[in-house]
Amino acid sequence: MLLEVNNLIKRYGDFLALDHITFSINEGEIFGLLGPNGAGKTTTISIISSLTQYDGGEVKFLGKETKWHEMEIKRELGIVPQEIAIFEDLTAYENLDYFGRLYGLRGSLLKERIEEALSFTGLTDRQKDRPKGFSGGMKRRLNIACAILHHPKLIIMDEPTVGIDPQSRNHILQSIKELNKMGSTIIYTSHYMEEVEEICTRVAIVDHGRVIAQGTKEELTALVSTEEKLVIELSSVNFTIVEQIKSVSSIRECSIKDNCLEVIGKKGEHNVSRVINLLTEAGIEILSLNVEKPSLEAVFLTLTGRSLRD
Ligand code: ATP
Repeated sequence: MLLEVNNLIKRYGDFLALDHITFSINEGEIFGLLGPNGAGKTTTISIISSLTQYDGGEVKFLGKETKWHEMEIKRELGIVPQEIAIFEDLTAYENLDYFGRLYGLRGSLLKERIEEALSFTGLTDRQKDRPKGFSGGMKRRLNIACAILHHPKLIIMDEPTVGIDPQSRNHILQSIKELNKMGSTIIYTSHYMEEVEEICTRVAIVDHGRVIAQGTKEELTALVSTEEKLVIELSSVNFTIVEQIKSVSSIRECSIKDNCLEVIGKKGEHNVSRVINLLTEAGIEILSLNVEKPSLEAVFLTLTGRSLRD
């Protein structure tokens, strides 16, 4: 186990910001902390990064309690904070040189790592420029470059795509997958469930300082879904076939939208093959078929009664 967070408690005065947060992360994962604003994501990762003290519970990195091995563990972490932390008056190269030295890199290894980080974040052409003139997305990419110079075991990114242009956003999401392939474990916090769904291998959904559910996307959606929805595009549709499909016992609803049939039925009852058989017997050609899976948004909504975006 790379990281274990057990019953973490954090109070700000009388306010309980983290209420027994518990999760663990294996080496090689992209672990998502998904939750609305104020859920406790930033507080959790500040504690993991030894930047904030906590009031109860424990955080273990490679089996060692972080509070007793702070410096040793910090060397294995790469942190991309929510607030961009770079020097506006230094060039991109000089920023990387500064952070590389903080991590103890020197000489040809430092130079090699700076070039690697610049290339990785697509900033090689801008290395001599000061971030003052960079877009928000480019600053964020430079911030990521500063955090990966020392090839950390665990990279923690706190909402790195908030308020940036779509091109940088895609670049960042692709780089996260790439960093993970190269061997880093990632913690990724976000309230954009689409991003978490796209890149994370496992997710903890956090709300009011608690983990309300965790697992793979499939495990989480299985928690709340007993039904599936088929969307079938057909060459032609008629109401007779709708009635025939409705008469299948496991199917609750069948309706026509444009040239598509929308079928909702109980999961695990072979609805796809049953519907295909009926359509084939009726001589209706299937142009496309899609089984819609419930999203993490639906999981959050079911578990809390609220939307992630509220
Ligand atoms: P966001 O997506 O907005 O960053 P978050 O999930 O990261 O939200 P936190 O920033 O961890 O949430 O905040 C959790 C709760 O603790 C919030 O209610 C917040 O107002 C409160 N909080 C955070 N930092 C402090 C602080 N220094 N003093 C008092 N309350 C705080």
